[in-house]
Amino acid sequence: MAMLFHSTRGKNVNVTAKQAIRKGIADDGGLFVTDSLGEKTVDVANLPGKSYQQIAKEVLGILLDDFSAEELDECINSAYGSNFSDSKITPVREVGDDYVLELFHGPTSAFKDIALQILPEFMARAGSENSKKACERIMILTATSGDTGKAALDGFAGTEGTGITVFYPEGKVSEVQRMQMVAQQGDNVAVCAVRGNFDDAQSSVKEIFADKTLADELEKSAETVLSSANSINVGRLVPQVVYYFAAYSQLLEKQIINVGDEVQFCVPTGNFGDILAGYYAKRMGLPVSKLIVASDKNNVLFDFFKTGVYDRNRPFYTTTSPSMDILISSNLERMLYYFSDGDSALISSLMNDLKTTGRYEVPGEIMDKIRQLFECGWADEEQVANAIADCRDENSYVLDPHTACAYHVLSHSQADPMIPRIMLSTASPYKFPRTVLQALGEECDGSDFECMDRLEKISGVPTVRALRELENAKVRFADAIDVKDMPQYVLEAAKRMANRE
Ligand SMILES: *Cc1c(COP(=O)(O)O)cnc(C)c1O
Repeated sequence: MAMLFHSTRGKNVNVTAKQAIRKGIADDGGLFVTDSLGEKTVDVANLPGKSYQQIAKEVLGILLDDFSAEELDECINSAYGSNFSDSKITPVREVGDDYVLELFHGPTSAFKDIALQILPEFMARAGSENSKKACERIMILTATSGDTGKAALDGFAGTEGTGITVFYPEGKVSEVQRMQMVAQQGDNVAVCAVRGNFDDAQSSVKEIFADKTLADELEKSAETVLSSANSINVGRLVPQVVYYFAAYSQLLEKQIINVGDEVQFCVPTGNFGDILAGYYAKRMGLPVSKLIVASDKNNVLFDFFKTGVYDRNRPFYTTTSPSMDILISSNLERMLYYFSDGDSALISSLMNDLKTTGRYEVPGEIMDKIRQLFECGWADEEQVANAIADCRDENSYVLDPHTACAYHVLSHSQADPMIPRIMLSTASPYKFPRTVLQALGEECDGSDFECMDRLEKISGVPTVRALRELENAKVRFADAIDVKDMPQYVLEAAKRMANRE
């Protein structure tokens, strides 16, 4: 029998993995979880010698068991191939006394590629939610503050039966990030700047999803339904479980550990998706003794782990690690579900508190259990810059500002010499060349591309060609619109795509 998923907030409706991927979020607003997590495990003794793709097949085969072996092979082979610049997909490097798991070798140089290269493949095989409408098109709709938009565009470009529309706040993303999006190739993509900030664009996208009149119009004039690729989708979470096993496998192969030895992971965190995947890996048999959360100045998670109170009523800081500038960590809901032993009534009430008051308090006995596995630290802007400089000076290794948060946290926590610590690196430093240069004490008044050249000279790490070549890329999408015009833009993009087929 297939593994079943239900909402974190109620167990009455059960769906298969394919349905959960297709739906994205449960009807009651909860996130899809399975009570079968941990029933089937991966035997770590058999990991050495396996390729990333083989490990992926084993892990995904457990978590997405309604996909056939053939379907998973197709998904894995098209997602993890020559589009990654390292044949290991997620290589582990020794940096000082610790290890770095590099997750940025995909086409957009951020870790979101690992999930977003395979999500479109899952969706293409997940079928229609309503079998009578099997010929429907899907339009993926995303508001982005930078990394997600490009990773989603790259993943969905060219996918049959699927279109993607990305909105970004005009003037609020970096030069590199903007060029990555507006030069995107593919005839099923649309990219548009919005006059406003990220929250304005994000709120409007949420309204568009809830707009029944627009949904009817999309159905009627373009046979299109809207869908989302955001990080609460099961299809984005499970591909991330794979690289925790791949990291362990590489340490076994290098004989740094023996089968069964424990390791720790430290993860730069925003929406809690990346580190939650580490928890799933532990439940599936990976020997993990600690999961260390690293936040930036938006340290809502740090306060939560310390006090048991999650409180988003606080100032929002725009930092040099923009992809971690988040005040609502959505995937935390899944962790709370598992640590409360599946108490969906409790989760439902906590999330209602969050919605109405902006805060919730988790019972002490649940917090005690959480703290046995999770630790948390954070870095302010100066500490991020210092971490980048220290790591370069001490290890000749250049970090991006997100990974630097993890480096800072590990440098200030007690290491057990018997337990290897693995830091997850979520972006290439060449995605944030200006911030990294400044941290290294270099000034650069030129463009982001001049910053890249300078960084390459002083770091000795070759630049990422796909990023460097953006300087002369052709801008395909120059539109900028008001927030109120976003629904109309979506409708027109859907019609354009429908007419093209
Ligand atoms: C998205 C992102 C993160 C945060 O990942 P979560 O899964 O939201 O915790 C960290 N670093 C980079 C570079 C990212 O793009």
